[in-house]
Amino acid sequence: MTDATTGTATDVTARETSRTPLRIHHARLIDGTGVAPVNDAVLVTDAEGAITYAGPAAAAPPATEAVRTIDAGGRTVLPGFFDCHVHLAYAQGSPPGRRAELDPVLITLDTAARLRQTIEAGITTARDLGGLSAGYRTAVETGRIVGPRLHTAVRIISHTGGHADVRLPDGTDLSAGMSEIADTSDEARLAVRRVLREGADLVKICATGGMGSPYDQPDDEGLLEEEIRAVVDEARRHGDKPVAAHAQGNAGIFNALRGGVTSIEHGYGLDERALDLAGERGVFVVPTLSTVYAGINKDTMPPYHYEKKVRWSGITKENIARAIEYGARIALGTDAAVGPHGVNLMELTYLVDLGMDPMAAIVAGTRTSAELLGMADRLGTLTPGRTADLLLCDGDPLTDIGVLGDPANIVCVVQDGVVRKDLLPTAPTGRRP
Ligand SMILES: [Zn+2]
Repeated sequence: MTDATTGTATDVTARETSRTPLRIHHARLIDGTGVAPVNDAVLVTDAEGAITYAGPAAAAPPATEAVRTIDAGGRTVLPGFFDCHVHLAYAQGSPPGRRAELDPVLITLDTAARLRQTIEAGITTARDLGGLSAGYRTAVETGRIVGPRLHTAVRIISHTGGHADVRLPDGTDLSAGMSEIADTSDEARLAVRRVLREGADLVKICATGGMGSPYDQPDDEGLLEEEIRAVVDEARRHGDKPVAAHAQGNAGIFNALRGGVTSIEHGYGLDERALDLAGERGVFVVPTLSTVYAGINKDTMPPYHYEKKVRWSGITKENIARAIEYGARIALGTDAAVGPHGVNLMELTYLVDLGMDPMAAIVAGTRTSAELLGMADRLGTLTPGRTADLLLCDGDPLTDIGVLGDPANIVCVVQDGVVRKDLLPTAPTGRRP
């Protein structure tokens, strides 16, 4: 007997079980809630992978025997981070069409390698906004591969000729299964049903054109407001799934906001009126600054893509700086694949560069992102009862946010109570897993 969603024989537990209770001491605790750090902190997890204590050493419960003790040596312990906008199925700078040239086995193995690279960068939960089949989510869930816990949109709903309709001039479809076309409200509903049937955790739509698409501009509108409303309603009818809108130009941003989406992805054309409306409706903004700071390369990009990015980078910086100052509900997302994979937390540096306080940037990448994914009741902060997703990093990110951007500084990553990355020197006390 096999479970259709997990592909796992129902009498076998495939799940990784190397979960040892942990006691981390001599740590600087930044818990993701935005409160001041605790300088001599202890964090304790149990055999179920839950946090049982996170706070000052002076008030910590006594150590018990069957734990692995980790001396953080003054390093900083933080919640596992989120990247709410990745495309793990694609190598950086590789247009979806290039996938058609690769053997599917190689695509799968390369994708698994990118998942590993992403968790080692400190991302314990990621949201894939196009290209990643739901099987990867299950593969991580069941311990077949190691990577961030996943939410995936599977495919991207776009109109004919829109941002996600990737075709050669002769009509050859190069989307490699990434696009789902819809040109009316009815088709929009059907498109939602199709991606949900494939196991999507959320719905991704194109409310505007984009940078990497050859035939449109970021200011072009994508799905109509009424089509977006139909998408949102259909997603609501199926477990209240969130809707993420690729939205760059101002008019499309307004269509998305009025249509009722959960998040504005990119948001380069956000003006004050749009920020007001987003604020009223509790809509999240995922600015994907990595594409602006690290995703522009004249040598590898087609000329149309390079020119659009250069033209828009000044506008983006100005508008996202305003959104930060305004106090928009910003979550962390990189658009990795457009920018590099495996250095996701460089996004924090870019947010700080545009005026965000380092502590606020950390909250954006942890608690606020957990809220966007509907997981804030168990992830995003280091508080008792929450799932033990955490990392240890060298240095103090509050004085140098850049330390988090270099995976070499992320010396330990724990996900669901399981140590997934360990560059720590051999612990002088306690048991190694
Ligand atoms: Zn994207």
